[in-house]
Amino acid sequence: MPNRPTKKAEATLDSMRKVFSIPENEDSTLMRIEREISQNLLGFLRDHIVAGEMEPAEIERDFKNINIPEEPMFVHEQAKFLMDKVVSQSVHTAAPSFIGHMTSSMPYFMLPLAKIMIALNQNTVKIETSKAFTPLESQVVGMLHKLVYHRDEAYYDKWTHDRRHALGVFCSGGTIANITALWVARNKLLAPKGDFKSVFEHGLAAGLTAHGLNGLAILVSRRGHYSLKKAADLLGIGRANLIAIETDEHNKIIPTKLEARIKELQSRNVGILAVVGVAGTTETGNVDPLEEVANICESHNIHFHVDGAWGAPTLFSDRHRHLLKGIERADSVTIDAHKQLYVPMGAGLCLFRSETALDAIETNAQYIIRRGSRDIGKHTLEGSRPGMAMLVHSGLRILGRKGYELLIDVGIGKAAQFARMIQNTPDFELTTEPELNILTYRYVPQSLRQQLKTMPSDEKSKVNDLLSELTVNIQKTQRDRGQTFVSRTTFEIASHNDQALTVFRVVLANPLTTRQVFIDVLEEQRTIADDEMAKMNFAAELKKIID
Ligand SMILES: *Cc1c(COP(=O)(O)O)cnc(C)c1O
Repeated sequence: MPNRPTKKAEATLDSMRKVFSIPENEDSTLMRIEREISQNLLGFLRDHIVAGEMEPAEIERDFKNINIPEEPMFVHEQAKFLMDKVVSQSVHTAAPSFIGHMTSSMPYFMLPLAKIMIALNQNTVKIETSKAFTPLESQVVGMLHKLVYHRDEAYYDKWTHDRRHALGVFCSGGTIANITALWVARNKLLAPKGDFKSVFEHGLAAGLTAHGLNGLAILVSRRGHYSLKKAADLLGIGRANLIAIETDEHNKIIPTKLEARIKELQSRNVGILAVVGVAGTTETGNVDPLEEVANICESHNIHFHVDGAWGAPTLFSDRHRHLLKGIERADSVTIDAHKQLYVPMGAGLCLFRSETALDAIETNAQYIIRRGSRDIGKHTLEGSRPGMAMLVHSGLRILGRKGYELLIDVGIGKAAQFARMIQNTPDFELTTEPELNILTYRYVPQSLRQQLKTMPSDEKSKVNDLLSELTVNIQKTQRDRGQTFVSRTTFEIASHNDQALTVFRVVLANPLTTRQVFIDVLEEQRTIADDEMAKMNFAAELKKIID
């Protein structure tokens, strides 16, 4: 082990007491370690490359030992290990040239403020362990509820801090938020009937029997997020009954197809648990026609959930809010705070239009979360939870509505700018037009671009497969080089007869990303493309298809 200390740390009660005690003065070892870590982190964050070149297998070697150390270790030893082996090999998700995922950069103030949350270690499951964090969290839920549903002041005065009801739940992310929404929808659909008290009490099978249903289904466009599959599984619906509805050329659900499918399911006595409208699809950032979906749900009396994990914060923008029109008619809405609210990972919300919706999943326990108490935990899937709402509260107050509006507008503007740049570059093809701040594209050698247009469809489809392989190779190499980063995804591309193609995916949420980054990304991909085409014998493979 490097840097073996002269005097080994020992497992004495005294040393245990020491690590649990607050340091007495500014010069203590712990304070010094803290300063060192801060400097190291700032150095890392200022460095604008995306990742080091070390291979995953090589990094893995530092984490091979699975033996729990018998003896304690000095804090500074562990701090050094973390800085050398973990920090240095982490991905710079905040780098302006990291434009591939929804994991966003953060305003710098989150880092010092997050310390308050860790230091106090409040548990929002129950008021006895959170006190001020409980009303703070309810306030945040109220603020975002108002952003979506804009009810009047009297409504929020009455319900924001109500002891029995809640306007929504704070949770660790979009997945839990979606599960919570569908959990509520399931229990609402299978309401008490005869001897059947609730799914909570008697289970799904009894509920279906009581309601004379042959099964349950959840409907979402084929661009729905995979978290819905987990929800369908957990709620006992079955993944096969998460039904994917066709999308149009803009990756939006086709309302007529949705309605036809609803009728078909109802004719077979299948209960429709919910229709999910997507506000910002993960792959393409498109928004379903929420108003039309709301109309359909209303006329068939179906729970309407909007998965706005990515796109809901678009509501901050005066200019772009209209894209989400109809969201205020949703029975429930998911928002991920760790995406476009720019807080650290582990924060999401599910909001409900009705203050009584969450009654459907209320759980009480005697030693904790007592009936009629202020305990938030009675409405949450998760148990113990950190005071993350504090950071959302901080973001909302420090940046303000106008700050978030600017971030949204800039992101959408940049996506449009990058899209135009791609369209004006002869060897790149825009595969989906951005609606919000996400777009997809691919590299196509210039000579092939023209040929593709006139090629018979069977040949074209084979060439497209070859190009998908090239896209994968370019993306991997670009990632491994660590200078710039875009992600890749595979889905049916409308402009290519719905053929499933692998394309580059760009997410623009970092306000530090400049036009120069776009130029660099394309330039690097073009260079890599030449190498990769040589490696995969592209010309010869192409000849095989075309001749
Ligand atoms: C990210 C995302 C989710 C899942 O959120 P997590 O925070 O990763 O659990 C769900 N739906 C959509 C549309 C998303 O973009």
